[in-house]
Amino acid sequence: MATQRILDFLATRRPDGPCLIVDLDVVRDNYRAFEKALPESRIFYAVKANPAPEILRLLASLGSSFDTASVAEIEMALEAGATSDRISYGNTIKKERDIARAYDLGIRLFAVDCVEEVDKIARVAPGSRVFCRVLTDGEGAEWPLSRKFGCVPAMAVDVLRHAAALGLDAHGVSFHVGSQQTDLSAWDKALGDAKAVFATLADEGIVLKMVNMGGGFPTRYLKDVPAAQAYGQAIFEALSRHFGNRLPETIIEPGRGMVGNAGVIKSEVVLISKKADNDNVRWVYLDIGKFGGLAETMDEAIRYPIVTARDGDEAAPCVLAGPTCDSADVMYEKTPYPLPLSLTIGDEVLIEGTGAYTTTYASVAFNGFEPLRSYVI
Ligand SMILES: *Cc1c(COP(=O)(O)O)cnc(C)c1O
Repeated sequence: MATQRILDFLATRRPDGPCLIVDLDVVRDNYRAFEKALPESRIFYAVKANPAPEILRLLASLGSSFDTASVAEIEMALEAGATSDRISYGNTIKKERDIARAYDLGIRLFAVDCVEEVDKIARVAPGSRVFCRVLTDGEGAEWPLSRKFGCVPAMAVDVLRHAAALGLDAHGVSFHVGSQQTDLSAWDKALGDAKAVFATLADEGIVLKMVNMGGGFPTRYLKDVPAAQAYGQAIFEALSRHFGNRLPETIIEPGRGMVGNAGVIKSEVVLISKKADNDNVRWVYLDIGKFGGLAETMDEAIRYPIVTARDGDEAAPCVLAGPTCDSADVMYEKTPYPLPLSLTIGDEVLIEGTGAYTTTYASVAFNGFEPLRSYVI
């Protein structure tokens, strides 16, 4: 949310145009909360959520590890001060030459979800540790992850057996319960699936060691979400239920939950209009939209809190849209967004909870609009 530091920055610097301001104090607090909630788990920050160098440097200094999806992200994590043993290449979809480059950079921990990917790793990253991602149903997540990543647990057994046969270290199982996951029990079923893979392979003499429990930890948008501590408790109970007192090593990969609430976007009302005289839904056009960084409003999945100086005045539902000439650049229409009737062209609004998945989603120059600027303070 807008911390005093962010408000002070905006008041003194008065940056022109839409921009994101991230408060590093909040990122630090979030990191500490994850450490406290899951003291036995290593934290691999999902770099894609917000790769700003200042954020990566802070997290590296706090002891975080990093989940990366490309050679460029690996280089950013290294640049920020992480050593290669604190970086995983967690994308299940990698070119073989990128795996080779990662291996050259010292990376030895790779995600897979099929034998074809294991073959690539065995060829160019011999002896590395691999973990196999299993599918989850994404139930309970506001930004579910579909069937793109992972395989069924029975196939994960084949994949890890194949890895072991090729001389790789069959290290463990990973899953992601879906982003903005507010159902605390979501980890339970996935951990049950992971345990089944462990048990089947143990019978064959392949001893897995690690469960990567992914991300999914939420940011507070319009509704309250459980605190990190509640997630820690639910996950620890699920781990104990399935693994008894022989707990595996565990990893978590928070992205949204690490940086989402640390950022606020300052935007400006460009136009307020109606489509007909007797229309009672106003259209409010901001200077930022789906192509300026608010891509997660796709299908109206993520509803950001929007704060104006006129909050408290009588409000009415509006359609909220961005400034570009693409007709898809409408953020909230199916469920209109209540905004003050007194809101006026030229007013500034603050879009809260925008520290994750915004800057990197901004288009390069669609309609000539520059990518979302960001200030990390
Ligand atoms: C995106 C991603 C994450 C982070 O997910 P959040 O829901 O933002 O916490 C973690 N792990 C992997 C493999 C990812 O792709």
